[in-house]
Amino acid sequence: MGMRIGYGFDSHAFKAGVPLVIGGLAIEHPEGLAGHSDGDVLLHAITDALLGAVSAGDIGTFFPPSDPRWKGADSSVFLKTALEEVATAGYKIVNIDSVLVMAKPKIVPIAGELRERVAELLGVKPGEVGIKAKTPEGLNQDHVAVAHVTVLLESVVLGDAPARMVATADVEDEIDSVVKGLVGGARDVSALGRKLPAFDTDDLT
Ligand SMILES: [Zn+2]
Repeated sequence: MGMRIGYGFDSHAFKAGVPLVIGGLAIEHPEGLAGHSDGDVLLHAITDALLGAVSAGDIGTFFPPSDPRWKGADSSVFLKTALEEVATAGYKIVNIDSVLVMAKPKIVPIAGELRERVAELLGVKPGEVGIKAKTPEGLNQDHVAVAHVTVLLESVVLGDAPARMVATADVEDEIDSVVKGLVGGARDVSALGRKLPAFDTDDLT
């Protein structure tokens, strides 16, 4: 079975007077995360991990911070687009793991709730979502929230004739070309059949 991994990283500074949203969960705290969107550091890292896993660029490719449409945006919109890219490429999530690095607020007391919320947004079971928290010891970044995320994907076995072709393909390359043919037509692409806009490494800071 074809598998792919993805990795995502993001950071946002804390800012007084804005709501704190992490992993799609509103968290009671005097400060939120500064950003063009809602600053959801965890959803941004998950989005990048998913896009990276199917070689589909990054969050800035799809949602440039220069675009006013994404000002104050709910980051679940970005996540949804990444999930669509994963599905289009013919993959689904096996599990994700994450590390949140921040001095405050304490994540451990809300880790269960956070895991459930993220699982709901991803359409997976809570047991397929890892949430770990660290304080930034020795990093001198107590006013910053950081998220690291890894994701593992597996290929989806498709129905009927194409599925049999996939099932009997001997090598990874053959599987890839079948999936490409199904999802991307004859268009040239990154690994998985989708024409991309010019690469843009800007994040929604
Ligand atoms: Zn971000």
